[in-house]
Amino acid sequence: METRNHVETIKQLQVRPDVVRSATRPTHSIIVMSGKGGVGKSTISANLAVSLSLNGYNVGILDADLTSPSVPRLLGLTGNIEVEENQLVPVSYSDKLKVLSTGFLVPSPDHAIIWRGGMKMGAIRQFINETKWGALDFLVVDLPPGTGDEPLSIVQELQPDGALIVTTPQEVALVSSRKSIDFARKVEVPIIGIVENMSGYTCPTCGTQVAIFKSGGGERSAKELDVPFIVRIPLDSTICESGDSGKPISENGATAPCASESSNLITQSVLRFYDAKEKVKTENEEVMR
Ligand code: ADP
Repeated sequence: METRNHVETIKQLQVRPDVVRSATRPTHSIIVMSGKGGVGKSTISANLAVSLSLNGYNVGILDADLTSPSVPRLLGLTGNIEVEENQLVPVSYSDKLKVLSTGFLVPSPDHAIIWRGGMKMGAIRQFINETKWGALDFLVVDLPPGTGDEPLSIVQELQPDGALIVTTPQEVALVSSRKSIDFARKVEVPIIGIVENMSGYTCPTCGTQVAIFKSGGGERSAKELDVPFIVRIPLDSTICESGDSGKPISENGATAPCASESSNLITQSVLRFYDAKEKVKTENEEVMR
């Protein structure tokens, strides 16, 4: 294996903006979107990827938030991206889960990644087309928030077959998440559903429920826009702790049963979505025969 340091790998990304589409594509690819940052999109992406891998699938997670990568921290991973036969080698979380993030290209998490548009687009193309993912059942892509250049480039390169939308319940986040839904519709990526995160808080001492960011807005949006609603996840300090300590809830359910149940519901919704898709595909193939 050819081992390069992060500077060499970054240089390689800079000089190879146009890459050839590799033959190996994941069976299913999911983009995880949010209108705004800080709503828990990366937390949900990381937990979904771990959970799918624990269900026996071969999974890749692409941290496409190129300038603010958080997946390595959330999964407790460090490492370098190696280059083998001109392909990037993702870092392994387990036998079943591989991770690619610009977080593995910098010497420390405090190191700023300052990339212009063209550089980012080149990196995205290379991450998707020139990475040794191996045969993947699922590629989960944690998109940067919003509907700008990176989400568009990823959709064009990857042609994902499902989008998961994460929002928090307050109006300022909902307006942006409705834009994500509009974006997914315009680029013809079917929507798996909406997750309403940080929805209410139960005081651990007195049990009082407080809707800090309000509650129910994601579900209302889902109804209005005719999109499946998946689950409300409350504000829960164990979710934050698990992210900070790099021990995903979907792997350590006993520490946070409520959050772990929500994580399971998201995984089940994703699996149902793809089952239904496969059924339609098989039926269409039978009709064509
Ligand atoms: P985004 O990807 O949308 O920017 P992150 O997934 O990085 O958001 O989450 C931002 C912060 O919020 C992290 O510290 C994460 O642990 C925390 N967090 C996410 N969801 C919850 C929740 N339901 N309760 C408490 N903390 C949460």
